[in-house]
Amino acid sequence: MNFKFMIGTKALFGKGCIESNKAIFKEFGKKAFIVTGKNSAKASGALGDVVEALKECGIEYSIYDRVLNNPTLENVKEGGDLAREFGADFIVGIGGGSPLDASKAVAVLASNNIDPVDLYKNVFENKPLPIIAIPTTAGTGSEITPYSILTRNDLKTKKSFGNEDTFPAVAFLDARYTESMSYQTTVDTAMDAFTHSLEGYLGRRSTPVSDILAIEAIRIFGECIENLLNNRLDFEVRERLLYMSMLGGMVISHTGTTLIHGLGYSLTYFKDIPHGRANGYLVREYLKYNYEAAGEKIDNVLKLLKMSSIDELGDIIDKLLPCDLTLSKEEMEMYAGLAMQQRSITSNARTVAEEDLREILRKVFNDGGK
Ligand code: NAP
Ligand code: FE
Repeated sequence: MNFKFMIGTKALFGKGCIESNKAIFKEFGKKAFIVTGKNSAKASGALGDVVEALKECGIEYSIYDRVLNNPTLENVKEGGDLAREFGADFIVGIGGGSPLDASKAVAVLASNNIDPVDLYKNVFENKPLPIIAIPTTAGTGSEITPYSILTRNDLKTKKSFGNEDTFPAVAFLDARYTESMSYQTTVDTAMDAFTHSLEGYLGRRSTPVSDILAIEAIRIFGECIENLLNNRLDFEVRERLLYMSMLGGMVISHTGTTLIHGLGYSLTYFKDIPHGRANGYLVREYLKYNYEAAGEKIDNVLKLLKMSSIDELGDIIDKLLPCDLTLSKEEMEMYAGLAMQQRSITSNARTVAEEDLREILRKVFNDGGK
């Protein structure tokens, strides 16, 4: 055995976790810069709880609520400049993966006045400001990963940066904040969390510890499928989805993602398909493609989900994520080419050739859609 395991985040999980641990904010300074999207922070109730805690701790704050879905370099530059001008001591990210990923970039840019494209050098003169992350979706696990995935309009794709210093220092995971999510976003983000564990488990960088986490997350996903299908999403189910998502984040912090994420980015960039949904569309063909390299593990995934075949899982995903997207030959060629440039592709269980990706896309999006 030969592996490293490290999560640089203190995770505080449970209903009311901000209220019962609010003194933690004081450990990070006197000025907080809050990074969030248009609605999620307020709609979820998380912003209200944070503001109350900051006030009680005597911490001054400023709110940046202009993070876009799939944030761009331009977007995080604006946040970074404002955080620096404000003289922030620490960053509080509130929202789905988009605001949480943006908060990591803002944390680096606030302490390093660099061109945002240099985030990808992953070496920074000054340490990023500490980040406190509060998820309002149950999908990306970004509250517990070092990754920040940003849209690169210059490269027409999304690319991730991050190092051990961009793990959030603290994550507050309270499933009440996910209750205001729409049904569709709940399903999409659950699928993102599932694919993190799936790709991490089957991928080349999997480790004994990441496998344990992935297996547990996949099992929990299986238990939640019926609830997702029937839109029966009470607090207990939402808490399990948030827990599964956190485990998935721990998995990919060690394994990275693979083929699904590598291909999915183009569906988001060019077709505006939400990240998790894009991933979900690819699961069936991803599993079939990888069976020759990871058959035993795929059989175990099906066992954990209490399913008898890849198609049984694929049919359920089709019900959760109806898809009428079709792609032209040119689009499929372009997406396959872009995915080959993603580092994640090299971690896939089966060695990937560009034509394999074209074939996967053809099966999913050109056989009349599904
Ligand atoms: P998102 O893009 O953060 O949010 C999607 C939508 O849901 C937004 O309109 C958002 O509103 C809304 N929303 C979020 N929480 C809500 C709530 N509780 N109530 C009501 N509305 C809510 O979605 P996401 O799937 O969580 O994140 C996707 C991003 O994360 C992508 O950029 C993806 O590449 C990245 N990602 C990162 C990692 C990682 O390890 N760091 C892993 C996977 C994916 P607002 O606009 O108001 O916020
Ligand atoms: Fe993801």
